[in-house]
Amino acid sequence: ANAQGNVDKWVKGACRFCGTGCGVYVGVKNGKAVAIKGNPDAKTNFGFLCVKGFLAYKVMYHPDRLKYPMIRQKNGNFEKVSWDKALDYVADKFKYLQNKYGKDAVAYYGSGQCTTEESYTFNKLWKGGFRSNMVEGNPRLCMASAVGGYVSTFGSDEPVGSYADIEKSKCIFLVGSNTSECHPIIFRRVMRHKLNNPDVKIIVCEPRKTNTAKIADLWLPVDPGTDLAVFHSMAREIIKNNWYNEDFVKNNARITDGKNTYDFKKYADFVDQFTPEKVEKLTRCPAEDIRKAAEWFANSGATYTMWTMGLNQRTRGVWANNLMHNLHLLTGNIAKPGADPFSLTGQPNACGGVRETGSLCHLLPGTKPVASDMWRSYVEKAWKIPEGTIDPKPGFHTIKMFDNLGGENNPDKPIKGMLTSTTNPAQSLPNLNKYLKGMKDSFLVVLDIFPTRTTQLADVVLPAAFIYEKGGVYGCSERRSQLTEKCVNPPGEAKPDVWIAAQLAKRMGLERLIPWNDDDSMAANEKAWTEYITVTKDTDHTLWGAKYDRLKKEPAGLQWPCPSIDHPGTYKRYVRGMDPMFNHEGFKKLFNKDIPSDEKIFFYMDKKGEGKANIFLRPYAGPAETPSAAYPFYLTTGRVIEQWHTGTMTMRVPELARAHPNAYVEIHPDDAKKYNITSGDMIKITSRRGTSILPAVIVENSMPGILFVPWFDQRISEMINFVCNDAVDKGSKEPEFKIAAVKIERISGP
Ligand code: SF4
Repeated sequence: ANAQGNVDKWVKGACRFCGTGCGVYVGVKNGKAVAIKGNPDAKTNFGFLCVKGFLAYKVMYHPDRLKYPMIRQKNGNFEKVSWDKALDYVADKFKYLQNKYGKDAVAYYGSGQCTTEESYTFNKLWKGGFRSNMVEGNPRLCMASAVGGYVSTFGSDEPVGSYADIEKSKCIFLVGSNTSECHPIIFRRVMRHKLNNPDVKIIVCEPRKTNTAKIADLWLPVDPGTDLAVFHSMAREIIKNNWYNEDFVKNNARITDGKNTYDFKKYADFVDQFTPEKVEKLTRCPAEDIRKAAEWFANSGATYTMWTMGLNQRTRGVWANNLMHNLHLLTGNIAKPGADPFSLTGQPNACGGVRETGSLCHLLPGTKPVASDMWRSYVEKAWKIPEGTIDPKPGFHTIKMFDNLGGENNPDKPIKGMLTSTTNPAQSLPNLNKYLKGMKDSFLVVLDIFPTRTTQLADVVLPAAFIYEKGGVYGCSERRSQLTEKCVNPPGEAKPDVWIAAQLAKRMGLERLIPWNDDDSMAANEKAWTEYITVTKDTDHTLWGAKYDRLKKEPAGLQWPCPSIDHPGTYKRYVRGMDPMFNHEGFKKLFNKDIPSDEKIFFYMDKKGEGKANIFLRPYAGPAETPSAAYPFYLTTGRVIEQWHTGTMTMRVPELARAHPNAYVEIHPDDAKKYNITSGDMIKITSRRGTSILPAVIVENSMPGILFVPWFDQRISEMINFVCNDAVDKGSKEPEFKIAAVKIERISGP
């Protein structure tokens, strides 16, 4: 137990782990964080926390914390240096590389764990200062397909509704989400709702019988990557049985294949081929269960779908998102209480920090495309930089960026330097064998709080502050931005990213662009935030009303659109008469007309301003790899409740490390029998890309032929990402972490 009650003060903030965005209070005693408790007024968690959030303060005091800047010497060892020396060295090297190889020779790779102020600052420095769109972040690896889905279906990123819909729903559809372990507080809300309302149906669609699937009224088991066929089959059943909402479809949706539009009959004929029996053969999902799921989904009165990486980390991730949106549009289960499609974000600030600030290679603040003349000109004016400064050409997406990262001796690799912050690509990228050399050969600068697999490859390591040592805003899955106030000082000479970015800008002659050089991190944060909400004031994502003063007072932050200082924030988008969808002036600028007032629902999609969302006619397509004679198993990966991402923080909390000290491979008993494997045997897992060696756990969680490995283990031989597939979705460029064809070999007994 932590030191609840025995503290000098409690400081309001948000949890720094998953995208649920639980509100917390950090207990401070004698200048040290000694406890964390849930904020009872936070609308995300109502005072509850999972183990990671509860124990997060312990991360801050681990002896491994990076405390001083370090530069790698010729002999390969790091030497402690002053901040001036480290920053001068980085700035000089970046200038040299940009002068010699062009403005795009140095890339920024950020994280959904940076604060919004940090992502905004680095994005501005690169795009407005260096004139380079070589800006990416790890949300490309987790949420890009959800973004692609929202934008292609509705025309604007991020969910329609909020967590508050959970308690209003009559049917909860969880797809590709082990909510109980990855978003435990959301799962708690689902469970409570079910306990209070036994008639509420819970459907889980996913290859493994996870702890989430175990509580479901209906588990739809599917082979990895085949759920597109299940969604089409559900749509077929909904139409065949006349469970669809004809008026809703007529008024609010159009049928399209992405190029042409069609009448409804064309769609009905298209999905008709996906009979449940045929789909059962393809997916191993029982036909009767598909029928039952379709009936519950369509007729519940309010169906709420939540999904996460199981849907996104796929070569057909955007399509999977589109087809799931189809079911909501078809049945009118959208933009009303308890009914919406809702993506759960993996990281605390993937939405607020990276997507909303446009810190990806193709975006500008407000999630608007860099290729848009209008938005570039808009942002250039806001940033007070000459017209034509921002490059209209998108930079490289994450996988392409790392593929093009190499040293000065490698003419084929145009990116020669990189600055990474708060992420660990040397462990988290898929198909690691392909990308480690580029990181090693290039000029790599790493900002982090601990040594990681990535700092091992770095030329310069800059010690960063933890969120409770610097403060800042996180925007969680439900469009909610929450301010964390600084609680304590960072250890040694560790510094906030905003300060580091401002110091770098100063040394590169761009001080005017990043004028928040304050030593007081909250003062710098406020300046960055204020500029950010000004720049995005006229977008549908506006947080103009969420000034710092207000965020300090609001117990639970604010949800965008929040267009004015007296606006309460928006629980549900696209609903007329409930809350303004977005700033009217912004709409007028985009479409040169007033927001129509005669429609109940208005999706942003239609460039003509008609407000219709897309029901997509997408052909079925499977994953990039399916099992074969040489690689007879599917491998899928995921998280466990106690460990976060690559384990660099949670493995340093003794309680969490003890609970889940190492990775393992889950094998179905039938497969174990065939290969003469017992629990504890060491198993070599091999894909076309690499190998990993892990102890076996024989368990009936997945169907035969499907293996599961959690990916937090930092030991080289246990790192499963050597095995994972780096094939990407054509639209979102998100890799197919979730599906690889592999073979296994028992190499030793316990
Ligand atoms: Fe933190 Fe997520 Fe746990 Fe909430 S559910 S305490 S946000 S890790």
